[in-house]
Amino acid sequence: MRILIVGGGGREHALCWAFRRENPDAELHCAPGNPGTAALARNVPIPADDIDRLADCADMLGIDLTVVGPEVPLARGLADRLRAEGRAVLGPSAAAAQIEASKAFAKDVMAAAGVPTAASRTFTDLAQALAWVDRHPEPLVVKASGLAAGKGAVVCPTRAEARQAVQAMLGAGAFGEAGRTVVIEAFLEGEEVSLFGLTDGTDVEFLPAAQDHKRLLDGDLGPNTGGMGAYSPVAIATPALFDRARREVYLTVLEELRRRGMPFSGVLYAGLMVDPAGTPWVVEFNCRLGDPEAQVVLPRVGGGLTDAFWRVARGERPTPIRARSVAAVTTVLAAQGYPDRPQGGAAVTIPQDLAAGVTVFHAGTTLDDAGMLRVAGGRVLNVTGTAPTFAEAQRLSRETAERITFAGKVFRRDIGWREAGRLAPV
Ligand code: AMP
Repeated sequence: MRILIVGGGGREHALCWAFRRENPDAELHCAPGNPGTAALARNVPIPADDIDRLADCADMLGIDLTVVGPEVPLARGLADRLRAEGRAVLGPSAAAAQIEASKAFAKDVMAAAGVPTAASRTFTDLAQALAWVDRHPEPLVVKASGLAAGKGAVVCPTRAEARQAVQAMLGAGAFGEAGRTVVIEAFLEGEEVSLFGLTDGTDVEFLPAAQDHKRLLDGDLGPNTGGMGAYSPVAIATPALFDRARREVYLTVLEELRRRGMPFSGVLYAGLMVDPAGTPWVVEFNCRLGDPEAQVVLPRVGGGLTDAFWRVARGERPTPIRARSVAAVTTVLAAQGYPDRPQGGAAVTIPQDLAAGVTVFHAGTTLDDAGMLRVAGGRVLNVTGTAPTFAEAQRLSRETAERITFAGKVFRRDIGWREAGRLAPV
């Protein structure tokens, strides 16, 4: 089997690792990949958003299965191109990828499907948006409708802050095109959890659930980032929650998308806010696996990933994916200046004697001409600890994160703090 993984971050390294584990003899390619994927697959130097060259490459290499990691190539129609050429691909059409690429579209679909989500309005006009803010209770959440690398949502405790965020997006053009349409919504109370449903557009099989940490600093302080760490399993993701999410969120949204003639096939990620009554309110949808969530979800898969992805990629019903009863925690090591102005170039040293249960996934790294590993992106490495207990997985991840060195390293020491509090002996 010839497999192409599209993307070059920690999620794609984790995908290569998971596919290699299940398929020791497969021909694996990763575009563009990174120094971590190079040890498991053949890296192909094509950027993940260059869909013309990716389609040509799949053709030339005779790829059987393409798995698309990031959202941008999906929103640009990579899956449509490959399917039109008769190739199996895991990832939705550009039309269905709008569930992530346009928050305005996602809100419209949810309203039509009757899915629990925050009350909202969509605006393109600055004056109308400001007037709406003035008439609604605090706190409010202001979101750029388009793709903004996970950084386009601003939680505003006061109306004054909401006015500022609206002004920045619709007035000053923050987030460019992505912020020309804004969604303003009510603030939801509860705890967040991320679900990953593998679907052919009708049926759904879940991967393990995860919780991520978006803020830069310990205690969930500091600016929003693409994600500073994640863990799985999550105690609040009970069988009852999966059951409600399946019925009230997934099946209804998938039906509405089919009704609109844009069936969703691939991994549908639902970011949920679970309220005290256990109701799963949708905060957002993504059209692919999360990053860094994949770096804890995939190590927990006990088998059946290739088979299930392969089936969905060919338009068949997904088969169940087995989960191992282990815990996984990943800590993101970020570059100095992340998220606003990450600085590249620092030399990275990873100890040779990593403890059993530790996997280091590469994200923003590069090898220089002398073979030295260097920082080349905002999120540099993801350190995943896997162990029979949450506490042990957390310790493995944190201690290894301490031991890896590069100048300006930024990371959180409290990944999974909610779970640690729940599981602590009383
Ligand atoms: P999003 O880009 O929509 O996932 O939002 C990023 C983060 O902002 C989420 O993970 C939440 O922590 C927070 N957030 C977004 N929308 C809401 C909401 N309506 N209520 C509370 N928090 C929210």
